[in-house]
Formats: sequence, structure tokens, C-alpha cells
Amino acid sequence: MPENVIIIGSGPAAWTAAIYAGRANLNPLVFQGNPNDRKNQENGTLPLGQLALTTEVENFPSWPSGDTRQYLKTALKEEDQPYWVQDDSRPQPTHGINGPELMALMRQQAVQSGTRIESKDVVKLDLLKRPFALTTHDGQTTEAHSLVIATGARANYLGLPSEDAYKNRGVSACAVCDGALPRFRNKSIVVVGGGDSAVEEASYLTKFATDVQLLVRRDALRASKVMQDRAKSNPKINIRWHTEVDEVLGEDKKGVTAVRIKSNKTGEKVEVPAAGLFLAIGHTPNTSFLGGQVELHPTGYIKWTTLGRTYTSVEGVFAAGDVADDYYKQAISAAGTGCMAALDAERFLGHHGLV
Ligand code: NDP
Repeated sequence: MPENVIIIGSGPAAWTAAIYAGRANLNPLVFQGNPNDRKNQENGTLPLGQLALTTEVENFPSWPSGDTRQYLKTALKEEDQPYWVQDDSRPQPTHGINGPELMALMRQQAVQSGTRIESKDVVKLDLLKRPFALTTHDGQTTEAHSLVIATGARANYLGLPSEDAYKNRGVSACAVCDGALPRFRNKSIVVVGGGDSAVEEASYLTKFATDVQLLVRRDALRASKVMQDRAKSNPKINIRWHTEVDEVLGEDKKGVTAVRIKSNKTGEKVEVPAAGLFLAIGHTPNTSFLGGQVELHPTGYIKWTTLGRTYTSVEGVFAAGDVADDYYKQAISAAGTGCMAALDAERFLGHHGLV
């Protein structure tokens, strides 16, 4: 029997779509991705998505400041609780919720709404036939009458060979994942980017580093005003304007030891001793598995073909969250479009007499 709706993804869009589809009795199946895949580990495309790689979430409505530990202990199964939830010796958090907690709660709510989850990557789709056919990394094929694509986006790298050579040995695109490693403690760290992510990563890294050199390629930050103020008022963050990475320098055993930086105004190059290089230069949507069967924007994001709907170029295939949004890219807007995609799928199935 084909599935009514398969949701591909594991972030706020996917789980919100699952909650709505579950409550509509569609018995949704979510492919949340394969946690053991090396590429997923390197690209940050693991189950629970990009938010699982962040710290405090201060802008998702309904989570004001407070100590949520007792709530998390009762809301989540023990194996789904981030490790710190059980650690009563940690100081009471001042924020309401953080990324990994929020994502674990969303997934739990989807399960409670009747969602089934498989930890598999979808590697191939056949959208020409009906029902659609999906092949997962283990070679299994599953059919579905409708799809919600909510595969999000992944962090970009600069593309320098020296950057690639030192990945996981000082080069990273996730401060929260790697920042606390001993190699970065009490050392200088270079962060690249001028957006909210760069400021967030730089601020987080100041907990461990002696100083953070923030390389911004223009003379202005793209980050929101509140984040700009945070960067400029942190004495451990040194912003270097009009500056780019020329080369990552290191040694086989030690990993990164310095970053050669370059002024894009004067061409002057300087070697900055550093134990790490963190990239925060935007994202690329995860669409390669679509094999060109769904229309994309020139930027690579999935195109919504009807204003105010989550329809794609293939009837019955809906897109939600960052994979179709190169503009807002917020957890709350992803959740909103996840809700819309589930409602669109429900109406599509009803209209075609498939449920
Ligand atoms: P953004 O696209 O906002 O910023 C990317 C930054 O990287 C820009 O400053 C850009 O420079 C710079 N950049 C891009 N390519 C290069 C390159 N090759 N070399 C050097 N610099 C480069 O991405 P973010 O990930 O920061 O944010 C994405 C979205 O998520 C945004 O909407 C943001 O508001 C949101 N967000 C919100 C947070 C919060 O509210 N706490 C936290 C994190 C993200 P330039 O400006 O010159 O283009």
C-alpha cells in the first residue's frame, strides 16, 4: 500500500508538517535522515537539522526565559533528552530553550500525533509515476501519494583546498558542535562571515578562545542590529573589515595553526596565528536527491509555483522550510510553511480521492 504522505526532512518544517498530517489521520511517515552517514556528519545534515547545531533560541515564540529542565524531563523520553537535561549540577539556564531541546520536543510532538519515523536518507525519487517512488540509502523503495520536501539547507565552505585539508582538524562550520574541543581552548580563532550566524558563532567561541578574529568581506555586518551590537561590544571579538581568507595554514599533527588573511582593499596579506577557522557564510539547499524533477530557482532553492501555497512544479509534491526559502530562513517561518505543506497535502489527497 502506498503511503498517504511522506515527509522528507528533520527540522521545524518537517516536524510541523508531521504534527498536522498526523492529526489529520494521514498516518505520515518521516524520513529523518541517516545519522551514521559520514557525509551527513560532515555537512551537518543529521537528524534534527540545523537547529540541533545551535545554542539558545531566543526568537521562537512561547519560549521566554526560565528553567525548563523539569519540563524537558517529563516531556521527552530519557534517550531523547540532550545530555545536559539530566545534569542538575549545571547552573540554571537563563534562556527558555535551545536548539537541540526545541527539535527534540518537536519530534516528540510529531510522534505523539501519530508520525512514524525512519532514520534513512532518500537518495532517489521517481516523480513521473503515480504513486511516487522513493528509494532510500539501503536500497528500499517506498511509494507515496504525496510528498513534503523539508530537507533544509547546509553550511557553505569557501572552497579552498587548504580549508578542505584541515576539515575536522581546526576547520569547522559549526561552533556549537566543535567549539568546546580542547584544540580551541585558550587559543585565537578566526570566524568568517558577517551575518547572524557569524556573530552567534563568534560570541559562542569567546567562551573558549582567548580572542576571535571576525573576518567580514565588506565594511558592514549583515547581522541584525541586536547581533551587531553583541559583536561590537564583546571585547574578545575583533572585527576585521574588508578581509578574506587567503590560505589556511597548519601542520599534519596539530591541524590548523594560523590563517593567512588578505585585505580585499589593499591586497595586503597577514598571517594570524589561530587554532581554528569557523565558516558562517550562508547555506546551500539540500536538493540534489531531487534529480532535477522539481523546478528550482537559479539559487538552487525549490520554487513555490503558486503564490501563498507550498505547491511545487509537480502536483502532489509540496516544499516547506529552508529548502524553499532563501529569504526568511527562520525556525518559526519554517514551521509555518511546514503546517501549510501538510494542509496542502491533505487537500490534494482529498481532492483526488486518495484518502
Ligand atoms: P547570511 O546569508 O545572513 O550571511 C552570510 C554572511 O556570509 C554574509 O555576511 C556574507 O557577506 C558572508 N559571506 C558569504 N559568502 C562569503 C564568502 N565567500 N567569503 C566571505 N564572506 C562571505 O547567513 P547566516 O547563516 O548568517 O543567516 C541565515 C539566516 O538565519 C538569516 O536570515 C539570519 O537572520 C538567520 N539567523 C538568525 C539567528 C538569530 O536570530 N539568532 C542566528 C543565525 C541565523 P555579505 O554580507 O557581504 O553578503
